[in-house]
Amino acid sequence: MISVEEARKNILKEIRAVGTEVISLQAAAGRVLAENVRSRRTQPPADLSAMDGFAVKAADLGTIPASLKIVGEVPAGGSYDNTVGTGEAVRIFTGAALPSGTDTIIIQEDTEFDAETVTVKEGAAKGTYVRPAGLDFSAGDIGIKAPTILTPRDIGLLAAMDIPWITVRRKPKIALLSTGDELVRPGEPLGPNQIISSNSLSIAALIEAAGGEALDLGIAQDNAESLREKVMNAKSADMLITLGGASVGDHDLIQPVLGKEGLSVDFWRIAMRPGKPLMFGNFAGIPMLGMPGNPVSSLICSFLFLIPAIDALNGLTPRTPPRQRAILTHALKENDQREDYMRAVITEETSGLPVIRLFDKQDSSMLSPLSLADCLVVRAPFAAALPEGSEVDIIPLSRCYPSI
Ligand code: AMP
Ligand code: MG
Repeated sequence: MISVEEARKNILKEIRAVGTEVISLQAAAGRVLAENVRSRRTQPPADLSAMDGFAVKAADLGTIPASLKIVGEVPAGGSYDNTVGTGEAVRIFTGAALPSGTDTIIIQEDTEFDAETVTVKEGAAKGTYVRPAGLDFSAGDIGIKAPTILTPRDIGLLAAMDIPWITVRRKPKIALLSTGDELVRPGEPLGPNQIISSNSLSIAALIEAAGGEALDLGIAQDNAESLREKVMNAKSADMLITLGGASVGDHDLIQPVLGKEGLSVDFWRIAMRPGKPLMFGNFAGIPMLGMPGNPVSSLICSFLFLIPAIDALNGLTPRTPPRQRAILTHALKENDQREDYMRAVITEETSGLPVIRLFDKQDSSMLSPLSLADCLVVRAPFAAALPEGSEVDIIPLSRCYPSI
């Protein structure tokens, strides 16, 4: 059995970034920018007013109150085409370009005015409430560096830079194949001892949340023919995930059957709980992760291995789940040779560290505690027993990656 860290390294060294495509900025949130973007314009394009008021010359404000002649008006998007002379002012609104000859904005609250004259009651230093041309960015500036996942903030910046199209990674296509005679899709008729294939949906959702595109190949029956037939549809994908059938039972057919179809195994079995029978290899030229069928195992293996793999396919530096310290409300026994990821809730989050309680049952088939969990408690192989009140490492689930 190899360690979690070795497994992660082995997986990532086999993964190359997918190609790129050009898409509209409107469709770009959450996509991975593949090339640096330079601004096509300067913002603001000219010195603009940051307030509603009057554009004046600071030199005219030597004595306060100062009385100035109103010679015109300029709204946002408009212009005042003459040059403003000594003793003159222009009525101006937020976002409007400063008329030539002016250098300062007096907010209207600091004035009294009628149609012809404005009396400035509060002085202002030169440049007050002026947004100089290029304050935000200039034409040719790099707006966003690749690679990065585009946020709504980035979209705003790129739009302001007048970038309607951008080059992103095409979404990595991840084929998902569930295996098992006992499995049925939600909503389909169930036989007496059948269960729902929850993994097909949970892992597909995780793939989409992590920036991939899930290609559901359906459920293969536990026979060679069905498995062979279904897995052939993975050939157009960038990565193949199989769910279940990765162990050593008589009905675990992934290795024996796919082995005959071009599967080469890099590693199988990792020192981790849940998720020991994780397999990684290459199936006919595609990286393949064979995940255990138990729903909790497959999700936790996905947090640790599939999300970083999708990052690598997207040309990103693979993320690692963030860790923090927390305090146990109860004692824990020593750990064996497998790194453990135990489901827990945060019972108290005061100013100090979060206080956590593990679920009594840590069975890897149980989705309800996983859904309720706030975090995973990580225990290193052979970690010593801990008394109540000890500190442990946790992976906070809500903050782990965008929506897992
Ligand atoms: P396996 O890895 O095929 O031995 O499956 C281990 C356990 O996970 C068995 O109890 C299966 O019924 C269950 N299981 C396998 N695949 C899925 C799935 N797609 N959704 C939910 N449970 C599954
Ligand atoms: Mg099975």
